[in-house]
Amino acid sequence: MKFGGTSVADPDAINRLIGIVRQQQAKTGSAPVVVVSALAKVTDALVAIAQLAEDGASDRAAAEVQALIERHLAVATAVTSTSRAKLLEEVTREFDELNGLVHALAVLREVSPRSRDAVHAVGEVVSSRIVAAAFADHGIPSGWIDARTVLVTDAEHNAAAPDMMETCDRARQRVAPLLAEGKVVVLGGFIGSTASGVTSTLGRGGSDYSAAIFGSCLDVDEIQIWTDVDGMLTADPRIVPQPRLVPQLSFAEASELAYFGAKVLHPSTILPAVAKNIPVRILNSRRPENTGTLITAEARHADGRLTALACKRDVTVIDITSTRMLMAHGFLRRLFEVFERFKTAVDVVTTSEVSVSVTVDDTRRLEAILDNLHNFAEASCEREMAIICAVGENLRADPTLFGRAVTSLERIPLRLVSQAGSRRNVTFVLRDADVPHAMMRLHETFF
Ligand code: ASP
Ligand code: MG
Repeated sequence: MKFGGTSVADPDAINRLIGIVRQQQAKTGSAPVVVVSALAKVTDALVAIAQLAEDGASDRAAAEVQALIERHLAVATAVTSTSRAKLLEEVTREFDELNGLVHALAVLREVSPRSRDAVHAVGEVVSSRIVAAAFADHGIPSGWIDARTVLVTDAEHNAAAPDMMETCDRARQRVAPLLAEGKVVVLGGFIGSTASGVTSTLGRGGSDYSAAIFGSCLDVDEIQIWTDVDGMLTADPRIVPQPRLVPQLSFAEASELAYFGAKVLHPSTILPAVAKNIPVRILNSRRPENTGTLITAEARHADGRLTALACKRDVTVIDITSTRMLMAHGFLRRLFEVFERFKTAVDVVTTSEVSVSVTVDDTRRLEAILDNLHNFAEASCEREMAIICAVGENLRADPTLFGRAVTSLERIPLRLVSQAGSRRNVTFVLRDADVPHAMMRLHETFF
């Protein structure tokens, strides 16, 4: 059970978390592993603190650390009674260490990736200690394990990759025995350490990844990501007024949707779970009675249904035309090399015999890209466009879905249309101004 920052933000949230874990335990008859993020916004604050240290702003950094200490001590005090004294001492000690570290970094005005990780990791170290103590205080047998002693990573600080073999060995040695004794094991997400024991982090948002790693190592039945939304929705509620909850989707569908800012979680972070066929469920810690969204390696949907819609506003279409492309090899390579040179990601691609159209989101290097394309082709661009993507495994089996999607957009000019070989999504590129209308039409048709 992974609880994100908003699900441990304050004493109320932590009390809700305890209730949720208690219920889960009653339901399954076994103790779960609990992975927690830092309290909401704490990692942002730690990032800022590391930056202040790098700028040599020692006093401001110390003031920010002080604010974090006060917040954590207040939360720790509110959620404990018998274990309070010990917890306050531990939390104070962690922050004393942070203070010393930040002071040293500010003197040197140098923050290496490794030091940055040491600063960023504090949020999860203290949040996990607080939650573990709160369990104990509520009479729930529990054990805190420093996640850095279990999750072993490479030395790519700030975006470290797990060493699954070593991590799984340690998880089986250290975590599993406590679970077997019926103890809820609490670990911080996001943090680990290198083989030589130096603190590392998996990158921002990495707690989901930690949960998937631990879940995969321990072969759990299900991984639950507890957050502050009900799950994945059939469309962005800012565009479609009453979207529905997506009850279930496949990992591949979740990946298609992720690019479009369906940011409930980043699918690559749950890969270790999906690879082992462990279902991942997204749940709302404010409405624990809901069933949420289940992500599985494969998913079956009711006939005639799509899974969800997504869109990306304000993209630019670039049209590249050249008669040289006709029956020539190497043309696409040359073309895409230009985008590579200017480090610009291409999203949708459609081709005809003599032209290629692509969309880009990042237009900072657009002029240079067009200049370079002009060396071997005609190229022009059109701004204020948007991408709409209709996702559903059913698109593979049911050819009428594509037709219904296009028909529902009958009067809306479509600029590009693309369906990849996986046939899991249909993508339309159209004028940004047409997005609300087009999304409503598609949503009415399929949901
Ligand atoms: N606390 C970390 C972050 O904010 C990791 C996480 O919450 O997943 O990026
Ligand atoms: Mg998060």
